[in-house]
Amino acid sequence: MNFYADLRREVCETAHRVYQKGWVAGTDGNVSARIAADRLLISPSGCCLGMLRPEELIEIDFIGEPVAGPGRPSSERWMHIAAYERRPDVSAAIHSHAPATVAFTLAGVEMDPCALPEVILSFGRIPITDYATPGTKEGAEIVKDLIQRFDALVLDRHGTLTVGQTMRDAYFKLDKLEHGAHVLLMAHGLGRTQRLAPQEVAKLAALREAMGLGRADDVPRECQSENPADRRSS
Ligand SMILES: [Zn+2]
Repeated sequence: MNFYADLRREVCETAHRVYQKGWVAGTDGNVSARIAADRLLISPSGCCLGMLRPEELIEIDFIGEPVAGPGRPSSERWMHIAAYERRPDVSAAIHSHAPATVAFTLAGVEMDPCALPEVILSFGRIPITDYATPGTKEGAEIVKDLIQRFDALVLDRHGTLTVGQTMRDAYFKLDKLEHGAHVLLMAHGLGRTQRLAPQEVAKLAALREAMGLGRADDVPRECQSENPADRRSS
């Protein structure tokens, strides 16, 4: 078994799923995997994730320079590098334009962090970054602090960044994020979302920590507050 060949295949299989799910369009989005402390494999600039082939992945260093492989590395490599630099525990990253998630940012509507048990358990909360011009070093600036604490970020008017210990891990986080956005979108269409009772949110926060999924205090304090003034329906 060749680790690097297997990893290249796994990166491509993930990229294909991201495209097939409709979480990117055309040549949007990018995927990467860590192959050493300061080396990555990343999809090339201008490629379609749905058609990505293992031999097209480009090895880059943490300065963003290509070390091996054809073509130019993704223009979003700065964002990926920022994530790996801040998170030594992370070995995979996916940037998508998941549409339901992006729609919330365009509308200026917050995805209610106190509504869905699975989202509370898995993510605690999902921060929204500032806006950055896509494909620039601004992408690193807006994620570098938040990614230290959270595995899934929403990029204002742009998309998502999810990281994981494995490619599959980063993919499942994106899957859960976009699925949660779809459910909330449907609930909004029905008129409102009702928040989970604060004591139930508190149980999920404790369970999150007990299961080693993350810190209990990642869950917004307002979701656990019994004070009606802190709570609202949206
Ligand atoms: Zn993008």
